[in-house]
Amino acid sequence: MIYLDANASEPLRPEARAAALAAMDQGGNPSSVHRAGRAARQLLEAAREQVAAHCRARPANVIFCAGATEANALALHALGAGRPVLIGATEHESIRAAAPEAIAIPVGADGRVKLAALAALLAAHPGALVCLMAANNETGVLHDIAGAARLCAGAGALLHVDAAQAIGRVEADWLGLGAASLALSGHKLGAPPGAGALVTRPGLEIRPLIKGGGQEMGRRGGTPALPAIAGLAAALGAPYPAARLAAWRDEAEAFCAGLGAIAAGAGAPRLPNTLCLVLPGMRAETQLIALDMAGICVSAGSACSSGKVAASPVLLAMGLGGMAGEAIRVSLPWNARPEMLAAFKEAYAALARRALRPARQSA
Ligand code: PLP
Repeated sequence: MIYLDANASEPLRPEARAAALAAMDQGGNPSSVHRAGRAARQLLEAAREQVAAHCRARPANVIFCAGATEANALALHALGAGRPVLIGATEHESIRAAAPEAIAIPVGADGRVKLAALAALLAAHPGALVCLMAANNETGVLHDIAGAARLCAGAGALLHVDAAQAIGRVEADWLGLGAASLALSGHKLGAPPGAGALVTRPGLEIRPLIKGGGQEMGRRGGTPALPAIAGLAAALGAPYPAARLAAWRDEAEAFCAGLGAIAAGAGAPRLPNTLCLVLPGMRAETQLIALDMAGICVSAGSACSSGKVAASPVLLAMGLGGMAGEAIRVSLPWNARPEMLAAFKEAYAALARRALRPARQSA
């Protein structure tokens, strides 16, 4: 099996596995007062400090939760109440579903949010909460968070950044740029699933979405998933081979372009590992099935909506029209190897020959 679907979940990183196993072996509930509880608490607070250091935040402003879906929902619940909400047109479903009344900020053909449009919307909706992902899960396109943060600061708006795909893969200090909060997800980093975090700047009141036993300083009820949290913190500290992945991604992109494929978002800065390929004339589902039969795991749309492959709302927002149903996402994992690329290229070439066949016959 050749796994090229890291944006769905990164393969488990050895550092994360070791930290999660150690937390599982240790056991204990961080809320208990006895020594087992205190030992678990120590692990939890060490993880909090690691996450805070990575995000240049204060440990007290790291709220552990189940993943980025929950972190996004918590941000909208705590920071969006009583404010107009503006969201990028290509935000993840977890933002779109938690803010059904939100106003969309359009993106250009390159997939980046249009800052002029954001400025106009901020002028029309004072005191808004703006949600903008750092990197898009389907195309890898990086939004101009610095530019958006400047506009938000000027308009008295709050900026929430969904960093689920970007953190650990690109260097950035989103809070330093002016973001009010960040959403993270452990399994997108190579940790076991089940943990994420909302990281905020100081001074914001976070009313809990899930109420319970007062955990996370009353901001998120429920016993924290310590093994997954320890794994998340360890995965954040693991080295990421960005330059190597970007070189392989570019090589694959050039090869596929030579076969007639179009890379969506290629004109914008992107995550190093992500390639969104449109093969005109062939449905995404057909491509997925053919590649799967060749042992290659890629995706179309986002993993969260898998089951049935519909036209990608992200690509529709970028103006790709009918081609939005003809795209697959190749996302290289941290442990990619050259033979994986070679196998993908061979399988994709066979696919492209199939896609082009009817056109040649009718010519
Ligand atoms: N935000 C983005 C950009 C994502 O890609 C995803 C998952 O695909 C999520 C949020 C949701 O993350 P989780 O699976 O941790 O809930």
